[in-house]
Amino acid sequence: MATSRKKASAKPSQSNSSARGPLAPDRVNAILRALDEAYPEAKCALTHRSPWELLVATILSAQCTDVRVNMVTPELFRRFPTPGAMAQAPLPELEALIRTTGFFRNKAKSIQGAARKIISDFGSQVPQTLAELITLPGAARKTASVVLGVSFGKAEGIVVDTHVYRVSRRLELAKAETAEKVEQELMRVIPQDRWIAFSHQLIHHGRQVCIARKPKCRECNLETVCRSKDKTWRS
Ligand code: SF4
Repeated sequence: MATSRKKASAKPSQSNSSARGPLAPDRVNAILRALDEAYPEAKCALTHRSPWELLVATILSAQCTDVRVNMVTPELFRRFPTPGAMAQAPLPELEALIRTTGFFRNKAKSIQGAARKIISDFGSQVPQTLAELITLPGAARKTASVVLGVSFGKAEGIVVDTHVYRVSRRLELAKAETAEKVEQELMRVIPQDRWIAFSHQLIHHGRQVCIARKPKCRECNLETVCRSKDKTWRS
């Protein structure tokens, strides 16, 4: 799902933030302001109508694009609209419906297992805590953070997908080499009330501008605060 992007310049409110380190509060605030200006309405790109549908779509999105997931979920949810229906689904039919998302056998087991656990342990409702969500088959911390943030407005973590990982390291907001450690670093530097929007904004920035192979630095409104060695253009 494309989100409109506005070009604006990120400049720290006080000069020479780099001399005070990449995590200087005015530099971090300048980055957050620039992201707000560029992506004021960044949202989750997975189509869904309920926490249950978002949970399933997020499980399916592992190693797959959101666009591809959005192509299979309408028919999947037409056939099996509730956890109850998904719990009873014939596995071969479930696998066929999600085949194009990759790893379809494991994913089919995960979403059926999640449906059954939601029914048996959570009164047929998607749980609303991270500790409970990560007990569902196929739902690791990232999946849980997506559901909590998007469906329930709860910021218990920062979603670190491949885009958030890459862009936050280029912007020197994090240095670690694993998504789990990058999340911990980001949680220390980004105010908690910004965690949900920040993830969506960095995902959009990573898809549209700060792309993996050849970032579009000339178009980037964070260019003035970015010192990445990957930069393709400098002002
Ligand atoms: S200046 Fe380039 S490398 Fe830095 S955030 Fe922008 S697009 Fe990414």
